[in-house]
Amino acid sequence: MRVTMFGTGYVGLVTGACLAEIGHEVICVDVDSNRIERLQAGEIPLYEPGLAPLVRGNAAAGRLHFTVDPVRALEGAEIVSIAVGTPPNGEGGADLSQVLAVAETIGTHLSAAAIVVNKSTVPVGTAQRVHDTINAVLARRDVQLDVDVASNPEFLKEGAAVKDCMHPDRIVLGASRRTTFDRLRKLYAPFVRNHDRFVEMDVRSAELTKYAANALLATKISFMNEMARIAEHVGADIEQVRLGIGPDPRIGWHFIYAGAGYGGACFPKDVLALAHAARDAGVPAPLLDAVHAVNDRQKRHLYTLIQRHYGGPPAGRTFALWGAAFKPNTDDVRGAPSLTLLQQLWDAGATVRVYDPKALDELRRTLGDREDLALCDSPAAALDGCDALVVVTEWREFRSPDLELMRERIGDRVVFDGRNIYDPVELEEHGIAYYGIGRGRSL
Ligand code: NAD
Repeated sequence: MRVTMFGTGYVGLVTGACLAEIGHEVICVDVDSNRIERLQAGEIPLYEPGLAPLVRGNAAAGRLHFTVDPVRALEGAEIVSIAVGTPPNGEGGADLSQVLAVAETIGTHLSAAAIVVNKSTVPVGTAQRVHDTINAVLARRDVQLDVDVASNPEFLKEGAAVKDCMHPDRIVLGASRRTTFDRLRKLYAPFVRNHDRFVEMDVRSAELTKYAANALLATKISFMNEMARIAEHVGADIEQVRLGIGPDPRIGWHFIYAGAGYGGACFPKDVLALAHAARDAGVPAPLLDAVHAVNDRQKRHLYTLIQRHYGGPPAGRTFALWGAAFKPNTDDVRGAPSLTLLQQLWDAGATVRVYDPKALDELRRTLGDREDLALCDSPAAALDGCDALVVVTEWREFRSPDLELMRERIGDRVVFDGRNIYDPVELEEHGIAYYGIGRGRSL
């Protein structure tokens, strides 16, 4: 099929490349000309495991194209996907301006019937707004085209996006016409050859499904972080509690880690947007509000532990930070707990040396060059001249550290482990003070 993909971010680029990989002809369009130029030159503007060879291979095979020109992008399009950003609008709701701008563009340049598929995370009723917008523009052009708008929320995870796209748990399709379901099934069929993983539903339910999934995952995290707070204050270890609750299949092992709080460009904004939409509909959402509030506090908890250790603001000290990305295997620092901690440390008058295997460029782009920030090219380099180490992202390479090196290089011999990846006893045996999240002994 001939697919047009609006947006070349984590969702658009990965999905576009995966659709090309299974044989479709895909053209990705973005308003960011620099991004498109880089893609045309074979440069991948974001880090996602396995993405670079997929993009380059399919571009070379002539199945994957990049353009800023919507006229070219929409020529002959059978499926038009929308995968642009839906950031917070300042009042907690979702800013739909990018989505509606794409709808205007589609209405302006579409020349034949097509199915429009919304992959962006959007409030219930947005597909209808996209439909109305396209039709209003078509009417202005005095053109009549059959355009159906479907919802196909995206569930890929950054850090495993290619794998998730190629082997999805499920593909949620929200539509009202049988023919639309059938076309979309055909589009994605090679991803689900093993067995049928399509979940068909009405459009509004599909839109809500995405928020429900993210809100539930965020709730699990905030729940564990609240348990961690309790554990810390009653002298229990949340890691042992985790091992004790995970075997229950009703609870499960996933998403029950206490940590430095959830970040990224999705969970924080989606929890807020859902709560906002609920309030708009006259439904109080106290659980969602609490999930957000717990997370907000959790992102500041590492700093609380630091202050507790030093008996006040750590002015004049130097901290090594291992990890800046909001989670491992991505370069994305949007909403990352590291940003909150960096600001707190700077406000206190501290200096920070950061190492992250993939996210340093994004960090520099986000924060600019500063005297109190050193970007380091190895974990050991970040420890040079530091007083304390803070682990913020649980990259694999941090898991088995050289404890002797830590002891030698960390001036105050203290580690703040925001992801509970170390054994407190082992560190203490090496003469290193240990603070984790929800590990009773932290008090
Ligand atoms: P992103 O910010 O990485 O990329 C969005 C891209 O859209 C940018 O390159 C931007 O330039 C482009 N864009 C903006 N307006 C445009 C327009 N009018 N025409 C063409 N391109 C335009 O965003 P993302 O992380 O890929 O997320 C996209 C959507 O998918 C959001 O709604 C997000 O909530 C949702 N989502 C994201 C993830 C994730 O893990 N990142 C997972 C599932 C769903």
